[in-house]
Parts: sequence; structure tokens; C-alpha cells
Amino acid sequence: MANYEDVFKKVVAHAKEYGFVFQSSEIYDGLAAAYDYGPNGVELKNNIKNYWWKSMVNMHENIVGLDASIFMHPTTWKASGHVDAFNDPLIDNKDSKKRYRADVLIEDHIAKIEAKIEKDVTKAAKRFGDAFNKEEFVTTNGRILDRQKQIDAINEKMNTSLSSGDLEGVKTLIEQLDIKCPVSGTNNWTDVRQFNLMFKTQMGATADGSSDLYLRPETAQGIFVNFLNVQKTARMKIPFGIAQIGKAFRNEIVARQFIFRMREFEQMEMQFFVRPGEEMKWYEYWKDFRMKWHQALGMGEENYRFHDHENLAHYANAATDIEFKFPFGFKELEGIHSRTDFDLKAHQEHSGKKLQYFDPELGESYVPYVVETSIGLDRMFLTVLSHSFREEKLENGESRVVLKIPAFLAPIKAAILPLTKKDGMPEKAREVMKMLQLDFNCQYEEKDSIGKRYRRQDAIGTPFCITIDHQTLEDNTVTIRDRDTMKQERVTVDKLHAIIAEKVNIAKYLES
Ligand code: ATP
Repeated sequence: MANYEDVFKKVVAHAKEYGFVFQSSEIYDGLAAAYDYGPNGVELKNNIKNYWWKSMVNMHENIVGLDASIFMHPTTWKASGHVDAFNDPLIDNKDSKKRYRADVLIEDHIAKIEAKIEKDVTKAAKRFGDAFNKEEFVTTNGRILDRQKQIDAINEKMNTSLSSGDLEGVKTLIEQLDIKCPVSGTNNWTDVRQFNLMFKTQMGATADGSSDLYLRPETAQGIFVNFLNVQKTARMKIPFGIAQIGKAFRNEIVARQFIFRMREFEQMEMQFFVRPGEEMKWYEYWKDFRMKWHQALGMGEENYRFHDHENLAHYANAATDIEFKFPFGFKELEGIHSRTDFDLKAHQEHSGKKLQYFDPELGESYVPYVVETSIGLDRMFLTVLSHSFREEKLENGESRVVLKIPAFLAPIKAAILPLTKKDGMPEKAREVMKMLQLDFNCQYEEKDSIGKRYRRQDAIGTPFCITIDHQTLEDNTVTIRDRDTMKQERVTVDKLHAIIAEKVNIAKYLES
């Protein structure tokens, strides 16, 4: 584990050093779980948003976009169930005074047992070599089966207690498992309490006239309350979807792990409205579609898995997470939920306005069912950043840090580098820059040796470095260096556009 933690620390330090992510209000010693995206970060983030939007909205005739406000009428959150049920179970250690999410303490305990299983599998794989059959090993090995049984029993107890609101049961489980506080090392716990995750604020100037508002904890409700506005104005026919990218706010009890869990974050959500009874078909469709979207990035199929929910939220009849193998283990990256007609019905009841659709084929009106795909943009950013971070030893004994970001997501597509600052090279370089910068995000750099400039571009994941040298002035050729192979090729200036365009083309990622 130490190794993973080291890598993660390096990723966090790298993100700061190269202008991807800064701690919010750093000059005031920072604000917990709030982060700012720097010059390279904002480009990467925009490129991820673009990949999602193109895939979900532009490539689906039956999905349209929305940008709803963060403030919503407070009754929205009563109707959605967030006022009464958007809680996390909280527990404090009396010795360290540290606060934890009770369910996360139990999940971390389970992760430790899973790690033991993983260790046994790795050992056995080494021992048996090519003859090793993982599937057979994990279904027959006595020790692994015992451990799996333990995990299942813990999960069952936790889910039963959580879904029935039995907080004492959750505490008893923590005691039975002898879970200790990682800081104090003791199991001196308080009772478990519920903690509402919504941030409250006021709108309006006068004390009497002001009303309590919440910062939205998810973007989905902005879509539900606009269901009829969008359906009617865009003349959508069921099945259809509404997509939105925007900020959400949660007063998370424990917000560690950098941008994985923040108190202000961004979601990319799509609500797909379907005929009642057809939701499972669409749930399967979106599970498959979203997994392919992730895997198209080429970050390793083995790094993704589904995790079906046993403890379903109050609005869902099926739910799964797409988990990614972050440096600290497999964790949720995206949720896919079959939300039934819960939300639209609840808004109908609380607002007194009908939220129904007249289905011309069936000749009847109904409240549609909803399948949702919901992904955290910041978590997606972290998958790309952590997976692409590499420290490489080079043949000449030197080393380099390189971000092997999928080329179309890279903040800068090409760096334009005059070899020296004289002999008309900067002027020629500016000409090349002008030719390319409308279609590709380019960076002009003339400071430091060419080797140092290559390293800086490697560190931010720039796929191409284009060097303008003496020969360029004679025959209009430049060298173009590939980030991954570090190979350089001499090409005429007029070929550059096509070479870059081929490499950073988003189309091949969207064809899946
Ligand atoms: P978790 O179990 O990690 O708290 P969740 O199940 O509450 O997440 P959802 O409500 O399903 O999350 O939200 C959808 C997505 O929004 C998540 O898959 C995640 O990518 C993202 N997300 C949720 N909470 C946060 C947060 N505090 N910081 C960053 N991203 C978040």
C-alpha cells in the first residue's frame, strides 16, 4: 500500500507544480476539500466535459442539454427527499476527536479483507505460473471462501442496519469487528448519528423576508423540475434524455483524497425518460454504453468494474457504480440508477402541477420512469491524471516524468519551440503557431534549452513538440517530436496540421 500512497502523493504534488490543481485559498492556508483548477487543469477539465457532451448530447438525437440554476425553490429538496434523507451516518472517536463516516469505516475494514484475498491470489499465481486459473482458485480455495463469507456477512449486516435506520446496529457492528480509529488506535466510539449533507444559505435582504435555501447537492433535480419545459419546447418524444454539467455541493463528513471527495464539485448527469416498465431495458443499455465510453479512453479495461448496490436509495429500483482503480483502490467514479417515477411524482405532488407525458403511440398519459447516469467530473479528471502519470527511466540514464494523457484530452496539443531566440527563428515559430492555434491549443516557448522544454511539455502531457531550427529557415521543414516514443521526425510545415489532427481526433473515441 505504501507504494500506492507514494504514487498518489507524487500525483498531487505534480498537479500543483504544473498548474493543474491548487488548494482553494491557499494563501490563507487553504479551505478543506475545495480546490481550484489552474491553467492546464481547466483545459483538461474542458476537454473531458467536451468528450462527455459530444458523446451524450451531440451523438444522441434524443438527448438535449440544460443549464439550470444552482439555487432552487426550497420545496424542491423536500420533494426529492434530501431534507429528510440525504444523511450520512457519522461517528466520532472519543480519544482522537476525529470524525468518520460509519459506513466508510466498515467499508475500509472490508477492503482490508479484500486486500488479503488479492495477496493470496497473487501468491498462488506466482506459484502455479501459466497453469493458474484465477476463477477456479477463488471459488475453491478454503481460506478465500472463508474470507468471502466474512465479507458477505458484514455487508449484509451493514446494509440491513443502514436501510432500516438502525444506527445502534451500525455501532454494534463496528464494535464487533473491533474497528479502531486510525489516529488514536482505540475503539472508544460515540454513538452513530445522522448528518445532513446539504449546505444551507439565505436569499433576500431582510430577516423577515428572507428564506432558507440549499446549495444543490446534485444537478438532477434541475432537470426534473424542467421536464415539461424541455419536453415541450424541444418537442421530445419518449424515450429521451436531458443532460447537464454543473456544480453540486455536499458537506461531506470526511473529505480526504484530494479531488476525489470535495465539498464543491462538478457533476455530468443525464436523466433518460422512458415508458413505465421499460426502465430495466434502458438501465442495461446505459450501463453498457457508459462502460464503453470509459474503456474507449484506453486506460485499461481491468481498471474498471461494476459494483451493484444492495442498499438501494429511496428513489431507486436498481443501481450500480462504475468503479475505477484509483491509486488508493477501486472506488466509485460514476453511478447509474433506475430512479423509477419517484422524482417526477414527488414534484407533481409538492407543486400541484402535472408532470405527465402524453404518449401518442399508446394514446395515454403517464409519469415517465427515469434512468440516470451521473459522473463526477473531478473524479474523472483524477482518473485521467493518476493513470497517465509515469516516471520513466531513459536509455541515457536520465529519467523523465510524463503524463500519457489520451492525446485528444491533453491541455496543450502542440508546443512550438524555436531552437534559439535569434536568426529569425522566433518569427518563423510565431508563423507556425498562427497556422495551428485556431484548431489546436498550442503553446509558444523559447526559454531554456530544448531538452528542458521537452521535459516541461512531457510533464503536462503535450503530444507534440515542434522545433524550428536553422534548417527550417532554409527548406521550411521542422522536427516534430512524439511525447510517448520521443522520436523526432522532420516534416514540411504544411504537413503539421494533418499530423496533429489525426492524433487528437475525438471521432475514434466516439464511435463505440
Ligand atoms: P460516494 O458514495 O462516493 O459518496 P455517491 O454515491 O453519494 O458517492 P452520487 O450521489 O451517486 O455519489 O453522485 C454521482 C457522482 O458524483 C459520483 O459517482 C461521483 O463521481 C460524484 N461525486 C459525488 N460526491 C462527490 C464529492 N463529494 N466529490 C467529488 N465527486 C463526487
